[in-house]
Amino acid sequence: TVQRLQPFASTIFAEMTALAVRHDAINLGQGFPDTDGPASMLDTARQAIADGLNQYPPGPGMPVLRQAVAADRLARYGLDHDPDSEVLVTVGATEAISAAILGLVEPGEEVVLIEPYYDSYAASVALAGAVRRSVPLARSGTRFVVDLDALRAAITPKTRMLVINTPHNPTGTVFTPDEIAAVAELACEHDLLVLSDEVYEHLVFDGRTHTALATLPGMYERTVSVSSAAKTFNVTGWKIGWACGPAELIDAVRTAKQYMSFVGGGPFQPAVAHALSHEQQWVKELRDSLQAKRDVLYDALVASGLEVHSGGGTYYLCADITAIGERDGIDFCRTLPERIGVAAVPVSVFTDHPQPWNPLVRFAFCKQDHVLEEAARRLRTLG
Ligand code: PMP
Ligand code: GLN
Repeated sequence: TVQRLQPFASTIFAEMTALAVRHDAINLGQGFPDTDGPASMLDTARQAIADGLNQYPPGPGMPVLRQAVAADRLARYGLDHDPDSEVLVTVGATEAISAAILGLVEPGEEVVLIEPYYDSYAASVALAGAVRRSVPLARSGTRFVVDLDALRAAITPKTRMLVINTPHNPTGTVFTPDEIAAVAELACEHDLLVLSDEVYEHLVFDGRTHTALATLPGMYERTVSVSSAAKTFNVTGWKIGWACGPAELIDAVRTAKQYMSFVGGGPFQPAVAHALSHEQQWVKELRDSLQAKRDVLYDALVASGLEVHSGGGTYYLCADITAIGERDGIDFCRTLPERIGVAAVPVSVFTDHPQPWNPLVRFAFCKQDHVLEEAARRLRTLG
């Protein structure tokens, strides 16, 4: 393995999922749902295969999906993307993220990440030969907040891009409109590109709303917005994602993407297009059911004696294990599957400054009620 990729040799999701399988534990580690997406979407995919849509789709993605993505963003955010030049279909959000960094950041330029961060950001920065600067989230009670002063201090003349993710994995935080506006102002002030990872855009709870970064003043022209069908329609294995933004930026993302996968997921593309156009009610029900699952997990974690951080979105909750006499989330997660039959992931692996994050552990709650109830019962035995 080349030197710049050596720190990324294995992902925590692979490690913890393997442990869960070995101990037959309930896997609340890797975030994936255990039920299918809308039936009409699955039918559309089956039909697409039967109809012979099994060869290379067009490079930027099938027009029907690009049009559906553009229509969806117009309806929900008032953002008017040209489906031909401003929407690119990718192999999951993962490829959109890598291709955006590879296509827009020169080797040696800096990318600012907010930590803890989704693991593919740092690896993608390394792939590009760029340099990452990580700024930790601050805490306000049990809420995580953007530390604007630290963010400002991390920006140098070499900074090219800022990556922001809301709703936030792994903490579950939905940043407030004020926080997002402040980040946007900073990006404008320093003329930065912004990669906005909004894969959990629909999964916001308790009446919160998602703020799409590109809607803020001065942001459309500098933002690549990324989302995916994985979290919205329970199809993490389909790997259908997209990047949206001004034509000039999307062109750069497309240039890199061409040589990563060229294209992907042919028959799934019309299915996701169908779901975006016809299954918004299903998505609302998914969100409501996830909010109820969040409450079940929250109560179990509190009952087990952990200090739980308030989660406003995504399908994750973070808890601090200090209160039950534990210190190290990595050790805790390595033993938890065998100990009580539940898997989780440590948060410190998503950071460059692990020390303050060591006692934090992330639990996913995107599981069927009976599975989650059983996990909750097992977690309560910790207390
Ligand atoms: N960004 C975040 C914040 C995620 O949680 C995930 C999925 N785990 C991705 C990107 C990748 O999405 P996809 O599965 O569509 O590649
Ligand atoms: N996005 C999911 C998570 O954060 C899965 C990631 C993965 O397996 N690479 O858990």
